[in-house]
Amino acid sequence: MTEENIKHEQLIIIGGGPAGLTASIYAARQGVNPLVLNGPEPGGQITTTSELENYPGFPEPIGGFELTQKMTQQAQNFNVRLEFESVETVDFSDDKDKFYIKTDMNEYQADAVIITTGAEPRTLGLEKEDKLRGNGVSYCATCDAAFFRDQPVAIVGGGDTALWEATFLAKFASKVYIIHRRDKLRGAKILGNRVKAKENIEILWDTEVKELIGDNKLQAIKVINNKSEKETVMEDVNGLFIAIGHKPRTECLDRFIETDEGGYIITDKHQRTNVDGVYAAGDVQDPDYRQVVVAAGSGAKAAIKASEYIEEHSDNLSETENIPVQPMPKETAKSEAKSSDDKSRDGNLNLTLNID
Ligand SMILES: Cc1cc2nc3c(=O)[nH]c(=O)nc-3n(C[C@H](O)[C@H](O)[C@H](O)COP(=O)(O)OP(=O)(O)OC[C@H]3O[C@@H](n4cnc5c(N)ncnc54)[C@H](O)[C@@H]3O)c2cc1C
Repeated sequence: MTEENIKHEQLIIIGGGPAGLTASIYAARQGVNPLVLNGPEPGGQITTTSELENYPGFPEPIGGFELTQKMTQQAQNFNVRLEFESVETVDFSDDKDKFYIKTDMNEYQADAVIITTGAEPRTLGLEKEDKLRGNGVSYCATCDAAFFRDQPVAIVGGGDTALWEATFLAKFASKVYIIHRRDKLRGAKILGNRVKAKENIEILWDTEVKELIGDNKLQAIKVINNKSEKETVMEDVNGLFIAIGHKPRTECLDRFIETDEGGYIITDKHQRTNVDGVYAAGDVQDPDYRQVVVAAGSGAKAAIKASEYIEEHSDNLSETENIPVQPMPKETAKSEAKSSDDKSRDGNLNLTLNID
């Protein structure tokens, strides 16, 4: 691609989940004109869950799809542009005064970048696992424990997250089985002791899940003891939590951004990465919380800092082709938000494509 075909942007936000959408709202409100590259999952992970009960401001449960649809509408009310493009490679070398981003459709250079590409849960790779996700199979106890009140559930894993989640689940579920493929826990001793002290938690050692039973909803699980090879169908278990780790989505960043041993981007408290002018927010830099409200909060911080960076460096940054931000009058915004709400009932995520 020739230099002229490279599009110039003030701020590119990679990822269109809660962190990216929140960052875009804050950046636009700071007077910056951000471009959001949505990637493979517009709206982010939360679009795959039917209900959220823990996002403030919604006393009644709200659907994950509906929540991101509202965030998208709010961003669009501030003229935020969203593109259905996936970033393939970046070049954040020191010797360049701009950040280069190549997607499956275009090449860009940006004055500042916010990375919000999220993290995906590691799966067991079982048949039907994908189909039953959200229908008895969950990767987030904080999110879904309350849906299994007074019912027996199982959790797979033996690390810190699994142990913490097992004690959390034990507050809701009548019984929690920890399914662990080894004969020792890997997590912190203090967490292990807490688990062992709970009367309604039982650890199934040397055990693995072999089969998920149920067509549209999990009805039971089949487990196997990997030493004796004895198989058992656990007929009472219709909630299975999988806590075997997450994989931050950082492949496209190559070697430019520093990550920890788990692959999560390392940021300081202002969401700054090791590269001046590049920020990260949301699950991609958060091995601990992985919640919408936390992702949104860090997205806001990243946008405020990125906007300050753009302003401070504005003398050195070349002119952009960006259109000025013109927030919609409130009444128009409200009525458009309402009409898109109506559309969302038909199942369409109302994202406006910005086609050149
Ligand atoms: C089933 C389920 C239920 C959940 N329930 C709750 C709940 O009840 N409450 C709660 O608070 N949290 C819940 N969570 C967690 C919550 O969804 C995440 O914490 C939150 O979505 C993280 O937001 P994020 O913006 O950091 O990342 P994500 O939501 O993962 O968004 C990442 C974005 O980056 C984009 N992207 C990825 N790679 C590229 C690329 N190469 N180029 C361009 N874009 C890219 C994706 O398309 C996506 O738009 C749940 C998660 C799941 C899976």
